Amino acid sequence: MRKSKRSSKNPLHIHQMTLGDFERLFPDDAACAEYLMKNRWPEGPRCPRCGNDNVHPHTKDYHWQCYKCSPGGVGYRFSVLVGTIFENTNKPLREWFRVIHLMLTSKKGISSLQVCRYMGFGSYKTAWLMCNKVRVALGSREFKKLVGYVEVDETFVGGKAKNRHGNDRDGSTGGTGSGKSVVAGAVQRKGNVVARVVANVKADTLTSFANEAVSHQVSLLVTDQWMGYRQLNKQYPHKVINHARGQYVVGAVHTNTIEGFWSIVKRGIVGTFHKVSKKYLHLYINEFEFRYNQRLNADIFSAAIKAC
Ligand SMILES: [Zn+2]
Repeated sequence: MRKSKRSSKNPLHIHQMTLGDFERLFPDDAACAEYLMKNRWPEGPRCPRCGNDNVHPHTKDYHWQCYKCSPGGVGYRFSVLVGTIFENTNKPLREWFRVIHLMLTSKKGISSLQVCRYMGFGSYKTAWLMCNKVRVALGSREFKKLVGYVEVDETFVGGKAKNRHGNDRDGSTGGTGSGKSVVAGAVQRKGNVVARVVANVKADTLTSFANEAVSHQVSLLVTDQWMGYRQLNKQYPHKVINHARGQYVVGAVHTNTIEGFWSIVKRGIVGTFHKVSKKYLHLYINEFEFRYNQRLNADIFSAAIKAC
């Protein structure tokens, strides 16, 4: 058996697509179309309208005709781009792929301004729109409810005061008027994160977030002492770490994993994106969630293309 390339010092080092890999894999738009086709339809092209897999190649490359769903039998013509974010844009597929590659290769993300400069786009708006379309797509994937050891927490993004429920300064609970947005997160240790922008840190809000993200079959659900989590006692094997009393780790009871995710999000939003408006915050959260959940996947690029 071949010895694993992973060093014991850095067992989580995953080889991701380099610039050189990108150039070799995607010499032109046709190579990108081929890659998109194989990722969308591993068993061969299907009509995006009716699901029929008995479609006929059109003379134009990466176009097909479906005679099943078209009234009058003239055939419905579709291309590999139909129903993806790449449809009806004036950017070649290879430029889209390059933007996605840029977005995925940086742990903290890349700003639209950097994308704009790197790609040589004439307008910042173009880069911004492309990046946001990708972020929408990355968030549209289905997820499995978290199991095992799960931590639930929330954080404030934006606004001025260091205002967390632990050291509440003005009694604000986030949401409208405070200038801050609340992001709720749940993470399965050694597994995935689910993060959502939520309206506030009230018990009903956080409980319904937990219900959406976390399976009732968990082994343990850990939160801090915030009263917004008390209702979880009734539904989950719930343990509390009391940060207010200076507790941070009591055996398996800690929230260090989700804190680690928050720090990536915050460094990204402060360091890379500088400022993210409330209106679009959920899209950036999608991006961070996706990158985190694919951190052990050497083929994160194809996972992203499938989502697009
Ligand atoms: Zn059809």
